[in-house]
Amino acid sequence: MMRLPKFVYRTPHTVTEAVQVFADAGPEAQFVAGGTDLYPNMKRRQQMPKTVISVMRLPELNQISGEGKSGIRIGASVTLTDIVENAIIKRDYPVIASAARTISTPILRNMGTIGGNLLLDTRCNYYDQNYEWRKAINFCLKKDGDICWVAPGSPKCWAVQSSDLVPVMVAIGAKFRLVSSAGERMVEATEFYKDDGIDYVNKRPDELLVDIHLPPTNGWRASYQKLRRRGAFDFPVLGVAAYVRVSTGSGSDRGVVEDAKIVLGGIAPSPVQVNESAQALIGNPLGDDQIEAAAEAAYVKARPLDNTDFVYQWRKQMARQYTIRALNYVRDQGLRS
Ligand SMILES: Cc1cc2nc3c(=O)[nH]c(=O)nc-3n(C[C@H](O)[C@H](O)[C@H](O)COP(=O)(O)OP(=O)(O)OC[C@H]3O[C@@H](n4cnc5c(N)ncnc54)[C@H](O)[C@@H]3O)c2cc1C
Ligand code: SF4
Repeated sequence: MMRLPKFVYRTPHTVTEAVQVFADAGPEAQFVAGGTDLYPNMKRRQQMPKTVISVMRLPELNQISGEGKSGIRIGASVTLTDIVENAIIKRDYPVIASAARTISTPILRNMGTIGGNLLLDTRCNYYDQNYEWRKAINFCLKKDGDICWVAPGSPKCWAVQSSDLVPVMVAIGAKFRLVSSAGERMVEATEFYKDDGIDYVNKRPDELLVDIHLPPTNGWRASYQKLRRRGAFDFPVLGVAAYVRVSTGSGSDRGVVEDAKIVLGGIAPSPVQVNESAQALIGNPLGDDQIEAAAEAAYVKARPLDNTDFVYQWRKQMARQYTIRALNYVRDQGLRS
């Protein structure tokens, strides 16, 4: 049985108290929300904080406010179950509710939070193992070792960004509010994720993710399509988020795509935005030819690595199919509305 290492557990009740507790505890502290990622990592000795600070009792992090017209604010400690079941999110941001519904299992979604999901550790077959397994291969760059077993000549870690909500947040243009004892800042999701399996977010350890701001739903539609082995609870080994805004005016440009984003998750240390797919869509109606061109661009850009489930060449092929699936879904939504 894998046991947790010893640590001090703190339960602050306000944001100010939480960031002060972190500042006092120093660099060996870490925030925890549902613990569905952090605690298994601690049992495997991948992360070893001396002080663990719970963010579940901070009222500000447990609220959802606003609606589609104005934009919505979701506290970082809102559980995935509450995201899936929230009436306003289901009505105005169905892509968030449906992507959250694909995460792990109902029991884990009762504990796991949206904030923890957006800050999920990157994953790799050589890293997501217990201590003895990793010790047997002399560890790796990400923790305790000096070589990357996926790309032995590489100076960087290629562990994969494996959150289902991350590509969606990047595609729809969400923003994250971070607070520390030094102040507060707002970061765009597009700027937040870094192409490095070790240093994978643009956030200092002492910064608390307080809330997530979703933009107003001014005519855009989005879809998320996930590839995994077992539909019951596996992590994505490819996730395609598609965002499209179509002109709704009465002129000749009615039905023309004004803005689009295709974002691939589960294949690299950070979400991959495919600008060539957007170019194939913008300025045209959302027709079969445009969808196929966008999907081809996603296929060309996708370079999955051989460090998660499934053969990586097949995952690359699936980038084309899942992009078609995501864009068809967006188009069908438009026909229904
Ligand atoms: C069997 C299994 C299957 C899973 N399947 C999936 C899946 O299909 N898709 C998927 O995306 N995930 C999956 N997960 C991962 C995980 O359950 C979810 O991503 C969940 O949302 C993590 O949230 P949490 O609150 O439990 O995070 P925690 O474990 O509490 O925290 C995760 C990280 O975020 C940090 N953190 C949390 N909240 C804050 C905050 N407010 N401010 C600053 N730092 C913070 C923690 O320090 C830690 O580094 C799975 C996990 C398991 C065990
Ligand atoms: S990509 Fe390389 S360094 Fe990173 S976790 Fe995997 S084996 Fe380790």
